Amino acid sequence: MIATRFKRCTPPLVAAVLMGVLSGAELAAQGEPDSLIPLGTTKGERYNRLVIRGVTVISGRGTPGTNRAMPPEGPVDVVIEGNVIVDMVPADPVNLASRRSQRPTGDRILDASGMYLIPGLVDMHAHLPRNGGNLGPQALEYTYRIYLGHGVTAVRDAGTGAGIREMAEQRRLSAANQIVAPRLVLCQRWPLPLGRWNEGNTPEKARAMVREFKALGADCVKVSKSPGHYPDVLEAIVQEANAQGMFVMTDLKVSETDAAVASRLGVRSIEHWYGVPDAALPASQNFPPDYNYWDELDRFRWAGRLWEEADQYPERLSAVIDLMIRNGTNWDPTMVVYEKNRDLARAVTLPWRETLVHPHELAAGPDSTVHGAYHREWKTSDEVAWKRNFQIWMKWVREFHRRGGLLTAGSDDGELGGISLIRELELMQEAGIHPIDIFKVATTNAYQVLGWERHCGVRVGCIADLAVVNGNPIDNLKVMYGRGYGFYGILPREERVKHGGVKWTIKDGVVYDAQALLREAEWYVAQEKRRLGAVADGETR
Ligand SMILES: [Zn+2]
Repeated sequence: MIATRFKRCTPPLVAAVLMGVLSGAELAAQGEPDSLIPLGTTKGERYNRLVIRGVTVISGRGTPGTNRAMPPEGPVDVVIEGNVIVDMVPADPVNLASRRSQRPTGDRILDASGMYLIPGLVDMHAHLPRNGGNLGPQALEYTYRIYLGHGVTAVRDAGTGAGIREMAEQRRLSAANQIVAPRLVLCQRWPLPLGRWNEGNTPEKARAMVREFKALGADCVKVSKSPGHYPDVLEAIVQEANAQGMFVMTDLKVSETDAAVASRLGVRSIEHWYGVPDAALPASQNFPPDYNYWDELDRFRWAGRLWEEADQYPERLSAVIDLMIRNGTNWDPTMVVYEKNRDLARAVTLPWRETLVHPHELAAGPDSTVHGAYHREWKTSDEVAWKRNFQIWMKWVREFHRRGGLLTAGSDDGELGGISLIRELELMQEAGIHPIDIFKVATTNAYQVLGWERHCGVRVGCIADLAVVNGNPIDNLKVMYGRGYGFYGILPREERVKHGGVKWTIKDGVVYDAQALLREAEWYVAQEKRRLGAVADGETR
């Protein structure tokens, strides 16, 4: 699924929110150290020789064939020349005492004492917005800043509102560091079943369509519920994609194909969880007689019972997991995008909604015509079912991880992917995965799926895609949330921005002030509130 898209339905609430936030933003704009910064102000810089001094390293690397990752090591002076890590010098008391050489120096020194260095995070499932759409004229720039502001240096898009041609140009500009953006990997979506069941619906048509996608500039193919799900068609898609140097990611939903079929066909990534419990069932899912897949309330309500049903056959589920691991199939669960199903009230009161969520999203409500906006009736029983569903789902995610499966982290978000990805890491900890391992999952596991060999974590010779975190994320993942959002309710509001967050994000050797980028995103939200407020005023006159 994509991130929840609601339509406007509560104007009085909107007005109240607008008034409250605008006054805060305007106060902040009056020259305080944490004032908002106009979008586009902050520039990154690459240095001939950069030293990150006194940092504790979380390498994101580990033992091959397992998900066992290296624990923190520090303090270390990390030396970067251009876009490559060229030296790592231990600066702990024992090593300092036994060494005569000076500590390394360079054109720029980042004092990172007490901070932690991680490889750049990868959001393996995003839906980037288009400029000029619901999120306003600079939607992409806004989204990019939220990503980089949270240490995310690469994003795999699973179908963008901007269109592949426009995004291919964005990908080029980002690769050349001519725009402030994470690296982009673009999966072109198979034609969705919106009256297009006759497109890409046979193996022959599928092969031609994959070649078309390649010509348009796609790196990969994303198959959602569509004619691409027919097993014979999916097989043709995978074969042709591989021949073209592309890979396939699938969102299986409820279709003819399940995770076992997709894994055997050579699909690279299975998204969400669709098809995994289904593959363990000996017969059809136990949906009620009036179930209708295309009624989204039905779909998501009954999806919340599937893991419990499949868990009655643990040996079969275990075999599905083993099959995926044997075939090297990547599982990218994107738990975060389903979290609202287990606690809807939490989802609509998240602290960053105040300053960082676009007013179009704030004004949203349930809507049967919008994908993901299905909570028009959400009962206690639905939340209870989804809570059980999460527990069993998480048990199998943990099992996949422990057996050495290629697990990754994705947000399935179109706007706040940077924040949602941090929440996904917290959900992985809730699933029982150690935070040390989580940083491998969210970094070098993803690089492996993408086939990026020079991206190899924090090690000499690897590309410098990194983030310096102001705190210990192994101890508390909440320090990863920018602008102190993670400390909501613990600290006075004016204190929060001084705590935690990513301090610097380094992409391709280019150093960005991560908090400044988030201040730009907040500025954009304030501007958009003003712009849309003006539009609303105009409408009432
Ligand atoms: Zn998606």
